[in-house]
Amino acid sequence: MQLTVNDIQKYLDLKHATAEDTLKWALTSFGDRIAIASSFGAEDVVLMDMAVRIDPEVKIFTLDTGRLHQETYDLMDRIRERYNINIEVCFPDKNKVQEMVKNHGLNPFYESTDLRKLCCRIRKIEPLLEKLKDLDAWICGLRQEQAVTRFEIKKVENDHLNNIIKINPLEDWTDEEVWEYIRKNDVPYNKLHDIDFPSIGCAPCTRAIKPCEEIRAGRWWWEEPEKKECGLHNRND
Ligand code: SF4
Repeated sequence: MQLTVNDIQKYLDLKHATAEDTLKWALTSFGDRIAIASSFGAEDVVLMDMAVRIDPEVKIFTLDTGRLHQETYDLMDRIRERYNINIEVCFPDKNKVQEMVKNHGLNPFYESTDLRKLCCRIRKIEPLLEKLKDLDAWICGLRQEQAVTRFEIKKVENDHLNNIIKINPLEDWTDEEVWEYIRKNDVPYNKLHDIDFPSIGCAPCTRAIKPCEEIRAGRWWWEEPEKKECGLHNRND
């Protein structure tokens, strides 16, 4: 009998599976058909640190939109050196980027949500979908606490749209737990976190937040909170 995602979630719940337990289960179960998707945020560096301890050969990929902060590129190199790992960098289709820039300019995201989504689709979503074709499961650093769009996240989810399983080992972690792990294990992190960027995406679409603003308030700050996803983590259930 084939296990369903609900069966797996129940099994992990029954075991009171920690993030490490979940990662171990996932890496063992899917072998070379699973990878961590990292955007080098605080949650991602925690996941990478945990995963490398479990499997030094763990597959990690990232999406380079071409518009990231210099601090993010610096961190990629620090992580490579610290763990002696290879990180696969996925790029957008050059022709599609050129066409978008020709039609809408270099900064179309500020003009409308539709153009912002077009940019996210070309620079992030399409390269991700291409990469997911190689995999049966992917691991993400999503947490319920991060945003109103993420309250329903589970440790294991079925992504029917892409016919793949998505694992969120840190689903129930708090912000404090993430930072406690980083400090305790001296994990390299993005320097932008020190200047009030709790959530980091592309440079033109991320700003620092004010005290008492929610974690993702600095992402696409000109849009309504319900629209603040780029499409990488759209839910289908
Ligand atoms: Fe484009 Fe901004 Fe989306 Fe990055 S976050 S892909 S720059 S719209």
